Amino acid sequence: MKRIITLLALVCLYTTLAFSQKKYELVIEKTDGTEITVNSEDIVRTYFRVNGSNKTDYELAVEKKDGTEVAVHTALIVRTYYREREALLQCSDGNHPHMIDLGLPSGTKWACCNVGASKPENYGNFYAWGETQPKSVYDEITYQYVTGTDTDGDGLYDRDIQYQDIGSDIAGTSYDTATANWGAPWRMPTNDQCEELCSNCTSEWTTQNGVNGRRFTGPNGGTIFFPAPGMPYGGEIIDVGEYGFFWSSTRNEYSSESALNRFFDSTRVVWNNSGRYQGNTVRPVR
Ligand SMILES: [Zn+2]
Repeated sequence: MKRIITLLALVCLYTTLAFSQKKYELVIEKTDGTEITVNSEDIVRTYFRVNGSNKTDYELAVEKKDGTEVAVHTALIVRTYYREREALLQCSDGNHPHMIDLGLPSGTKWACCNVGASKPENYGNFYAWGETQPKSVYDEITYQYVTGTDTDGDGLYDRDIQYQDIGSDIAGTSYDTATANWGAPWRMPTNDQCEELCSNCTSEWTTQNGVNGRRFTGPNGGTIFFPAPGMPYGGEIIDVGEYGFFWSSTRNEYSSESALNRFFDSTRVVWNNSGRYQGNTVRPVR
């Protein structure tokens, strides 16, 4: 009897450990080759329901704890399954982007590379805030979400300037550069998530495969590298290898024309805010 109890206790302990350390996600594989993933702990329920009025079409609905849902017509689904979410402490192979666990309090995982990059030391693309495609010139004239008149031709509007309100936080919306390019649940980091990264990690200026940048190391030993791409200015990229900016999804609450980002160079990482039309890199989280 005593042995059985000990054995049961061991099984319970093992099960608790196994399930506390492994995390799962629901994968909906679609006919167009893309997939939708939802973290299992975010799911309230999944069910099929009639789609449309003829009652012969069905969709799979995934109801989430945040009140949102994902719905996909069954004709577009190849298969659905659960898989273990692999959060790594660092890049392990060439299958980027990896989801890196830095041991942050919120559980946020950061990608190993920027949107548009094929590996961590690639700069990736620059994006104006809320735009999902890169371009050759980043100024107010080319920015999708502002209208005005440039009377002196300097690339900045000086009359009738009107910034379109696309929200105070664009994470997970159609304006989210990360979600648009990589698919959900990847999204741009909020200002709070950037703050969490900077206050919980140490960071050092270093060179990775010949590229200057800053390596962040989390309390659990996980690491990610931010290459220093410089910045787009007047149709060219200046100060390559000297510093970098990456966007948060959070707009400046006191100015509809700017959004919050982080600046880093060889000496520091600091909170910053830039005009929404400027081109910054984007490092996704999930
Ligand atoms: Zn990687």
